[in-house]
Amino acid sequence: MKQCSNCGSSLIVTKPPGDDRPRFFCPACHTVHYENPKMVVGCIPEHEGRILLCRRAIEPRLGSWTIPAGYLENGETVNAGAEREAFEEARAHLTDLSPYLLFNICHINQMYLMFRARLTDLDFSAGSESLEVRLFDEKRIPWDELSFPVITETLRHYFRDRVSGRFTFGIFDILKENGTYIKI
Ligand SMILES: [Zn+2]
Repeated sequence: MKQCSNCGSSLIVTKPPGDDRPRFFCPACHTVHYENPKMVVGCIPEHEGRILLCRRAIEPRLGSWTIPAGYLENGETVNAGAEREAFEEARAHLTDLSPYLLFNICHINQMYLMFRARLTDLDFSAGSESLEVRLFDEKRIPWDELSFPVITETLRHYFRDRVSGRFTFGIFDILKENGTYIKI
């Protein structure tokens, strides 16, 4: 961040009075420009034991497989965001959304909220951000071609919990070192 979005002046980094950390600050109009983590919402779309994956048509990790997920928009509920991403990436319609996993990824200032969901029908197809979309059973999940550690961890949790049939909500950290996680 270099210029003030309020008045266009050059910003400085300084600790505002009463604050406990440095912020981008505009010396001209005295606006403090706070930066906060971004929320990503996604889902595991299920259909009769299989789950829907999308092959990315965009960088980063073009060509890798992912579940539908993306940044929450302003004014949007987390449920609506997950439904929108499933439609944008896979033209898929969801029902029975259930919050499942929350991942803190502090080194990139992101949080991922993952839902479980069911496809309402098999009327899905690749959206503009996907090369292809396909249903996978557990044995055919392309574990070596998944896009990000958070996607791998989400699917690991899912298939582990599916054995017991108990999908308990949990909060986890994705750490910078090799994508391992610890439970809070
Ligand atoms: Zn300003």
